[in-house]
Amino acid sequence: MGTDRASATVDGGFVDRALEAANLNALRIALYHQTNDPRLAAMEVKQVPAQGGALTAYVLHRQHHDELRAIATEYFSQRLGTESDHSVRPHPTREETADLITLFTGEAPTETELAFSYEDLAFEDFPRNIDWTNGRPENVDDFHVTIVGAGFSGLVMGIQLDRLGIPYRIIERNPAAGGTWFTNDYPEARVDIPSAIYQFRFIKQYPWKSYFATQAELAEYVQMIIDEYDLASKISFNTAVADATWNETSKRWDLELDGPDGTTAIGTNAVISCAGLFNKPNLPDIEGIESFEGHMFHTTEWDHSVDYNGLDIALIGTGSSGAQLMPNLAEAAKQLNVYQRTANWVTPVVGYRNQMPAEERWLFDSMPGYWNWFIFASYVAQMQMQSLQVMDPEWIAAGGRVNERNAKFEARLTEFIRSKVGDDDELFAKLVPSYPPLARRLIIDNGWYDALVQDNVDLVTDGIERITPNGIVSIDPKTGNEVERSVDMIVLGAGFKVAEYLWPVPYTGRNGMSLEKLWARDGARAYVGMTLPEFPNMFIFYGPNSQPRGGGYHSWVEIFSRYVCGLMVEMIESGSSSIEISQEAFDSYNTAMDEEHKTILWEYEGVGGYYVNAFGRSGVNMPWKVHDFFEMVQQPDPENYIHG
Ligand SMILES: Cc1cc2nc3c(=O)[nH]c(=O)nc-3n(C[C@H](O)[C@H](O)[C@H](O)COP(=O)(O)OP(=O)(O)OC[C@H]3O[C@@H](n4cnc5c(N)ncnc54)[C@H](O)[C@@H]3O)c2cc1C
Repeated sequence: MGTDRASATVDGGFVDRALEAANLNALRIALYHQTNDPRLAAMEVKQVPAQGGALTAYVLHRQHHDELRAIATEYFSQRLGTESDHSVRPHPTREETADLITLFTGEAPTETELAFSYEDLAFEDFPRNIDWTNGRPENVDDFHVTIVGAGFSGLVMGIQLDRLGIPYRIIERNPAAGGTWFTNDYPEARVDIPSAIYQFRFIKQYPWKSYFATQAELAEYVQMIIDEYDLASKISFNTAVADATWNETSKRWDLELDGPDGTTAIGTNAVISCAGLFNKPNLPDIEGIESFEGHMFHTTEWDHSVDYNGLDIALIGTGSSGAQLMPNLAEAAKQLNVYQRTANWVTPVVGYRNQMPAEERWLFDSMPGYWNWFIFASYVAQMQMQSLQVMDPEWIAAGGRVNERNAKFEARLTEFIRSKVGDDDELFAKLVPSYPPLARRLIIDNGWYDALVQDNVDLVTDGIERITPNGIVSIDPKTGNEVERSVDMIVLGAGFKVAEYLWPVPYTGRNGMSLEKLWARDGARAYVGMTLPEFPNMFIFYGPNSQPRGGGYHSWVEIFSRYVCGLMVEMIESGSSSIEISQEAFDSYNTAMDEEHKTILWEYEGVGGYYVNAFGRSGVNMPWKVHDFFEMVQQPDPENYIHG
């Protein structure tokens, strides 16, 4: 499978080191399922405050560590001596999983938590599967689907359609697949959530090299998927969907494609936009930008031919990409000027740049179930961030900003800044955001503060006035004078135009309905992020307000692909030609969603970066809790749809 597994000599010392590196609670649960050893079940899990008390970590009590390692050593000494795996118990059933989760966290899961967790634990071959009711109908041969985009969303959609035997083609404007991870190959690009979560659940034991995968690893992962699932021949590369119009007579979408052979027209029964949220670079509108005579590029269009060692560099933009990249520029540059418009909260993450040791990878391969429970441990930790997002009226009435946990997190992150900048009060003031953590996307510390205190790095918070052929002019707020800082290279790290859903493709639905008309009031909306009234047989991945509050990206696109396939199965099996969300369901869903938004911090005083659209409305994130949203999209809900 793509990357070679580490070859290592497995002796006693190796196993000891593996057990030292292990997530002990995950190991305990996996071992317990295999051995039924009551000592493992009796071990105590402590809820330990993490991040200054903002979060809770489920940690195996220290008093059990040695005993657990001894039981594991015994288990391996017995297993490693045998050739066959006949002693390995099959994965737990759903019911057994409920008990094991209770042992893991000390709390019994609700029905919905169990349903979500069981899928996410990935015990089944294809956890988010969907099938025909009575076998594949013959009329499917005449049905054709077009998927727009070959990022992770488009790929999983193709794989689901292949499983159902529904003919399809993926249209991709880039020369290769991978979307985000094809375009964003700037130095230091990597995920900011653990690889354990950021991966498909139908691909088992992928041998990640890093705990947080780099762009290069993700590009390899994409290629592995294309090869394993034989997708290459189903993708038209270098081809863009330029126009899409619903044809009421044929009950199909008429698409215009711009490809290597010019413009072609095709008809397709359904169109699924997997066009992505972060693929329209935000090019800052700064006077004189075109006059700059040095090197200048956006993070998505990194010019790898430029050797920037020893150059004077400016970085405009300090969001996720800019902050991730900055330390690399700081190391190379003679002088680096970092232009920051809004300060962001930056959190330390232990082991962010660490490679996975061979011992841990061996444990994934050798301890049945450990890989699954390791994923679960990451998922439980990540899921807790939800509690920091909820507005607590009592806390606010008493003068707080969001809630107690959020305030503890803020205090912890503020201390972190102080610990990094020491007594430099001016820098400290520039770095502490005015809004509470999580009102904007939280940034992972990739060496941000350490780089900022280097002698060759300046954080410039004065507004940029204009760009000249030689550099950047800003106004010094103390003197009111213009200051020009000369540079050889400008990196534009100003992020993406996230609010422009589906842009630039003009989709025209039934009765000439356009997206502009549908979204004129206050920006893009959808039903469960995926469907729109008057747009039959059109489905959107990661559409408006569907970025969930937790859970891994891949888990969600697996869930979305099952939902979309479920609707198509329903349509085809019922003999109808189209399926479309009713206006009533769309309206009542959106009214309820607006209400729910009032309980969450994303519209906090209009702050929100890309979370908030031009109308001041939270337009990207899903306000409901992860498990509540999961209930809405776990299975398709055909009763809310109109057949045509
Ligand atoms: C730098 C960066 C870091 C990120 N890190 C994380 C992270 O740590 N964790 C996380 O969960 N998410 C992260 N994300 C979000 C990331 O975008 C998603 O995780 C995921 O990769 C998106 O996959 P996708 O298939 O939905 O969209 P994309 O990867 O954007 O793919 C969409 C594809 O559609 C194609 N396309 C668009 N329009 C057309 C058209 N009209 N015709 C033909 N093709 C078209 C595009 O060329 C592209 O290939 C990050 C995003 C960026 C930019």
